[in-house]
Amino acid sequence: MRTKLAAGNWKMNGTMAALDALEAIAETSVNGPAEVLICPPATLIHAARSRSGTVAIGGQDCHAAASGAHTGDLSAAMLKDVGADYVILGHSERRTDHEETSALVQAKCRTAWAAGLKAIVCIGETLSERDADKTLDIIGDQLASSIPDDATGDKLVVAYEPVWAIGTGKVPTTGQIGEVHDFIRRGLEDRFGTGIGGSVRLLYGGSVKATNAAEIFAVSNVDGALVGGASLKAADFVPIIAALN
Ligand code: PEP
Repeated sequence: MRTKLAAGNWKMNGTMAALDALEAIAETSVNGPAEVLICPPATLIHAARSRSGTVAIGGQDCHAAASGAHTGDLSAAMLKDVGADYVILGHSERRTDHEETSALVQAKCRTAWAAGLKAIVCIGETLSERDADKTLDIIGDQLASSIPDDATGDKLVVAYEPVWAIGTGKVPTTGQIGEVHDFIRRGLEDRFGTGIGGSVRLLYGGSVKATNAAEIFAVSNVDGALVGGASLKAADFVPIIAALN
């Protein structure tokens, strides 16, 4: 049985005042079985921890090295030290803005696991790749090369985020979401066996809102969502959590 997960990615949004929204989410979302996670900017993780109640806290990236001369970067152990339970890796904005490859994402994943963090590994096709009928090839490649061999359902979550759906208001059909999620599930089961492959949670991400969440959560192999814009305000995020419960 996979525990449902509602994960919020605040991206580069939020100063200390934003923690009021986190507190409101924590106060109103504790009644269901779904796990709730907020990934604020790293500057807020420590303060967030003391105001998040049962809501888990995560980072949005970590360096592939455990420590060292990497000015401006953060290690997985640093995130863990200030209260993070999770880290998002390979978000399409990192793959684009910082030219992150799947090999680098895999290296970061190993470092995150070594520090005791759970990794949410993001994969997804661009619009031109979908239009060229390459979606499953891209997803298969990213899945194979972004995830280390010693994955387990306790430490890995995979987020399917079509790049063209992130922050655009465009959402794939439920048929398209189901096709990709079933494909990812089969890929994980083929590689890791049905026990481990069947226990990894699969999130859909890309313009999830209160108005479309229930429909998306009803799709096979969708175990929750990775939510950007609609996770910034409790009024938007709490109904998404409710749809999962
Ligand atoms: C995201 O950033 O992972 C995301 C899914 O953003 P949005 O919900 O705003 O599309």
